[in-house]
Amino acid sequence: MCIVSDSTVAPLYADQVKAELLKVTDHVCQFTFPAGEAYKNLDTVQDLFQCLIENGLDRKSLVVALGGGVTGDLSGFGAAAYLRGIDFIQIPTTLLAQVDSSVGGKTGVDFRQFKNMVGAFHQPRLVYMNMATLQSLPKREFGCGMGEILKTGLICDEEFFRFVCKNQSEISKLDLSMLSRMIRRCCEIKAGVVERDPKEQGERALLNLGHTVGHAVEKMKNFQLLHGQCVGVGLIAAAYLSMQRGLLTEEEYEEIRKGCHSYNLPLSVDSLNAGDVLAATKKDKKMEAGHIKFILMDGIGKSFIDKTVTDEELLQAIREILV
Ligand code: NAD
Ligand code: MG
Repeated sequence: MCIVSDSTVAPLYADQVKAELLKVTDHVCQFTFPAGEAYKNLDTVQDLFQCLIENGLDRKSLVVALGGGVTGDLSGFGAAAYLRGIDFIQIPTTLLAQVDSSVGGKTGVDFRQFKNMVGAFHQPRLVYMNMATLQSLPKREFGCGMGEILKTGLICDEEFFRFVCKNQSEISKLDLSMLSRMIRRCCEIKAGVVERDPKEQGERALLNLGHTVGHAVEKMKNFQLLHGQCVGVGLIAAAYLSMQRGLLTEEEYEEIRKGCHSYNLPLSVDSLNAGDVLAATKKDKKMEAGHIKFILMDGIGKSFIDKTVTDEELLQAIREILV
């Protein structure tokens, strides 16, 4: 077995995981790479392969991804390609990885400036999460996970969205019973969507709610803001557009803004030009025959795919989140 982890997570948890694995196997090696998205690339995958080869891992060996989404994506992709595919398990240690990246089987790395451009679908044999790991997670990272969680509620579960907003104080204090309810429900929803549409032929695109504008902002801000924070403002833009179309009431729009704000997600971003953000949305992978597959909300918890959003509508929504 090989534990794959980054330079921040390995010192915190790798020894404990190793001790557990040594109860069932004699050989556990470890591959540690520098923390950060900048290392989710093919160079790191090559170093991982080198380590797997040097330690004699074979077709029956197991890769154990211990860390956030970067570690999970990179390890999963390495496992998918090594010897044409060996098993891997995920031990996600960020909220985002627990509710989002460890579910669904998408793995991969960034290629040059292109995010998640090279990858494979490879399901983990097991996802094990210990919510106590969230205690060492920086607040900003926790907020990012909350951006994706709020998104999940907005897509298809009004009651869940309201539960998450109502219990903000317990959730932020890492109350274990609240956390486990929230994480479980979020994984159930994502797993359900993915099971019905594993390769994103249709419904899975709903998971991109807030991501068209979110990704554009992320890029234009040169990745100074974290992904979940950009998803937060993207949700607000999508909600605004939905309100303009008469699909959301003003109260619902405000409720969504309040929900994001309560988890310290930004409601707006500065120093950007609306036209530039619009241009960046066009470079998103989620285009089909020249049309953006935009996700709109027909009320809270009822999202749908729409291909008729005009540049003018999108511009207005983008202006709404710029200061
Ligand atoms: P990450 O893995 O970089 O983790 C964020 C930071 O937190 C890192 O510095 C990490 O070292 C640190 N960290 C992790 N766990 C910690 C802990 N318990 N205590 C203290 N520090 C800890 O990033 P992330 O936000 O977890 O994931 C983002 C990545 O996930 C992106 O690359 C994104 O593309 C990917 N992603 C993939 C999918 C998918 O379906 N495969 C879905 C969403 C996101
Ligand atoms: Mg996302």
